[in-house]
Amino acid sequence: MIPIPKDILYCVAETPTGELIKASDAHKGGSYACPACKQSFVLRRGKRKRPHFAHKALSPNCTPETALHHSFKTLMHEKIQKHIEQSLPLKIQWDCSNCGEIHTGNLLKKAVKVQLEANLEICRPDIALLDKDGSTIAVIEVVVTHAPEETTLEYYQQNRIAIVIYSLDSDEDIKRLDDEVLKPDNVSLCTNPKCLKCGNKMTKKYLEIIDASCWKCHAPMKVAALSSRLWYLGISDFSDSDIQLANQKGCFLKSQYSNVEKERYIANTCRKCNRFIGNHYLFRDYVSFIELEREELDAGYYCHHCQ
Ligand SMILES: [Zn+2]
Ligand SMILES: [Zn+2]
Ligand SMILES: [Zn+2]
Ligand SMILES: [Zn+2]
Repeated sequence: MIPIPKDILYCVAETPTGELIKASDAHKGGSYACPACKQSFVLRRGKRKRPHFAHKALSPNCTPETALHHSFKTLMHEKIQKHIEQSLPLKIQWDCSNCGEIHTGNLLKKAVKVQLEANLEICRPDIALLDKDGSTIAVIEVVVTHAPEETTLEYYQQNRIAIVIYSLDSDEDIKRLDDEVLKPDNVSLCTNPKCLKCGNKMTKKYLEIIDASCWKCHAPMKVAALSSRLWYLGISDFSDSDIQLANQKGCFLKSQYSNVEKERYIANTCRKCNRFIGNHYLFRDYVSFIELEREELDAGYYCHHCQ
């Protein structure tokens, strides 16, 4: 795989008092040093490029990637520290890869302490959040060049440590620290309730009520289908309460015998001619026919592990 070239400039410097300053807040003639290699920096404010810093002299072992990684995690640590000191929540929002929903929460709900480069058994996360018992409950990894090792991710998983990942492609990502709601690229946590039977996380279920017409007599007909954010569910996944809700909304779901499939199942039925929509056609002719108007209703949770 060819890596995509990253657009990274030196965008943060250290002041003589050890504070970090963004190039956009710096002024010409100020005294600045590189946060990674500590060599002298000069501020550059050109017409063609956004403000940035450059080493006064060649610093062969320093890269903008290293400096960005260092600055981002240090500033994130400072931000979290401030929130903890003032007992302020830190809102966070992420696309859940488990269920496809957008989850929101407070990153500091249980955290009372934040540590930069904490020394855990087998790894050193960029930032660790600890609860009142001193246990690590979440880590933040800032990825510029190196993604965390597979063994490290496994360690976090085994120890029930949530992983928050920021993947940075540009020095402009430094602005993401100012977001009122943190939006990391990946969070390993799904906030859905657990299944009582198998203990796995459940998935949110939606009931779609599609405005359609009967394939046989063309009378107007409301058609019900179930979906999650990531996939469609089969007709056999309809619970009694789903059927009740669909029928309240004008659908007509009833038990039918399919000569094709040689089995009995619940099917969307036409009130006028009593013909029904077979499993296969429900998806092909109704669900995936996006021109049809539809209403989406919350139908609670279901477990796709048990189903
Ligand atoms: Zn440097
Ligand atoms: Zn989720
Ligand atoms: Zn289950
Ligand atoms: Zn009909």
